[in-house]
Amino acid sequence: MQKALGIDIGGTKILYSVLDKDGNILSEIKKTSTPKTAEEIISVLKSIIKEHYNNIDVIGLSSAGAVNLENTMVLSSTPNLPAGYNSIDFSKLSDKKVFVENDANCAVWAEYKSGSAKGFNTVLMVTIGTGIGGGVVSDGKLFRGSTGNALEVGSLKIFADKRQKCTCGRYDCWESYASGTGLKNCAKTGALEYPEFCTSIYKDKNPEELTTYDITDGVEKNDAFCLRVFEQWQYYMFVGLVGLTDIFNPDCIVISGGMCGFVDIKKLEEKINSESVVTPVKVKLAETKNNAGMIGAGLLALQ
Ligand SMILES: [Zn+2]
Repeated sequence: MQKALGIDIGGTKILYSVLDKDGNILSEIKKTSTPKTAEEIISVLKSIIKEHYNNIDVIGLSSAGAVNLENTMVLSSTPNLPAGYNSIDFSKLSDKKVFVENDANCAVWAEYKSGSAKGFNTVLMVTIGTGIGGGVVSDGKLFRGSTGNALEVGSLKIFADKRQKCTCGRYDCWESYASGTGLKNCAKTGALEYPEFCTSIYKDKNPEELTTYDITDGVEKNDAFCLRVFEQWQYYMFVGLVGLTDIFNPDCIVISGGMCGFVDIKKLEEKINSESVVTPVKVKLAETKNNAGMIGAGLLALQ
């Protein structure tokens, strides 16, 4: 059976392991810090490949950023990755096949092939962390768009009247309402608008300083203000997801990322199914979690 070396290049760490075509992890998952220069990244990747060279057929890399259509280079990436990273030709790292793909695309592929969306046909995955990322597998194929940049769902506009500035400099991106940052924004706005703030456990706190932890903790303590903020945040999440459901007609939506544990999945599923015109759709939590990029990259390289 063919085997892949899956490597996830993150802003702070590089994660890697050998996998088979079913996504089974065959070697210990190892971690190393992401070096600060492009040259050092190349040298770390070469030594990881050397370590497993005799035991693998292909190499799959998961990376943040926009990947070219040949899956050999990352054309633009996050500020977390060093200057020069965008000019690395990953296909030159080895004489074996090296395949690089965007991390959100790798993640949806991992869930589709070996995670909670296994057995489904069209899968939408949404990762809710500081921002929001997305990927779609449509009818068994990764949906990449004309330049490989499809599913920049965090930038989806949900209002047209410039209500709230996003960290990207534009207005009303979905991620400025429904991500972790979005929850903080909901708290800030809510403190000015909701009468419940006056009796909240946070009534003496500067609304600008309310954190996502404050709100989720307040929800657990049944604080009326936090409950209302949280409800609003979940509503924004629903607004984006129901739109994406109408567009992609998925049979499964997978939610992942640092904030996913707070989402009421059952309620979200009911609401999407009651409002979308293309239902039914299942909503599930991701299974591959931190290994999603690594597993997806390896499985895509084996395609
Ligand atoms: Zn934005």
